[in-house]
Amino acid sequence: MDLGIAGKKAIVCAASKGLGKGCAESLVKEGVDVTICARTAETLEATADELRALGGGSVTTVACDITSESGRAEILKACPNPDILVNNAGGPPPGDFRDWDRDDWIKAVDANMLTPIFLIKATVDGMIDRKFGRIVNITSSAVKAPIDILGLSNGARAGLTGFVAGIARKTVRHNVTINGLLPGPFYTDRLISNLKVNAEKQGLSFDEMAKQRAEGNPAGRFGTAEEFGDYCAYLCSAQAGFVTGQNLLMDGGAFPGTL
Ligand code: NAP
Repeated sequence: MDLGIAGKKAIVCAASKGLGKGCAESLVKEGVDVTICARTAETLEATADELRALGGGSVTTVACDITSESGRAEILKACPNPDILVNNAGGPPPGDFRDWDRDDWIKAVDANMLTPIFLIKATVDGMIDRKFGRIVNITSSAVKAPIDILGLSNGARAGLTGFVAGIARKTVRHNVTINGLLPGPFYTDRLISNLKVNAEKQGLSFDEMAKQRAEGNPAGRFGTAEEFGDYCAYLCSAQAGFVTGQNLLMDGGAFPGTL
């Protein structure tokens, strides 16, 4: 299926690794010109080379912290009129809410709520004028089923989800959609580091811990960044103009509800 977005311009945030990289890869394969960012320049450039080798759309890099105002200004300077925006950033750390002070909360809200909101604010009116826009916010399955030790993530991402629910119904008339893509367990560096911590806590080897977690998922495995990226690319497609304000779970069936 031709997604009808060759030649479009995309900003994909936090995309040198993991889910962001998966999204950038799927978009590049569709012929989209992507501008990607991450804080570590070396990894970012290595990823850009991999993406260029796919022979699809062009790849521009901006080494920056997307949660800072200057970082957002830099990526918007490199790609001022994106047709596609994939919002992403590192997730907040796990812990007990009794240990978190105001600064911890401000950091989480900045990264996982305000950063996507400010990027939407900076790009959505141009999309409306051009009558095409696709915004995908990478959030978490915790939006649907909160994870107790991820209180900072549960809280900040719920704020973003609530905000988007309001505006996604205003923009769709102009062929601009805004959706959340909610990852369950995907085999990325973030999941690997969580597995390492849990293995140590439970006195298991990394392999034992990974096997236990993967088998505990109805799919019997973790998701892959490629699967995630392809779903994201579909949401960014010409054909997906009637899908907006949705929170689409991708978790191998782990969420146990009927709806
Ligand atoms: P990952 O494999 O650790 O990759 C994170 C990427 O984001 C890296 O490229 C990293 O590069 C970049 N990044 C992190 N903070 C950044 C910042 N402030 N500015 C710019 N780039 C930044 O993580 P992932 O698994 O893809 O997770 C992506 C998001 O999905 C996170 O918010 C995570 O909480 C959420 N999520 C993931 C899973 C899962 O199973 N993987 C499940 C639920 C939710 P640098 O470090 O060089 O900046």
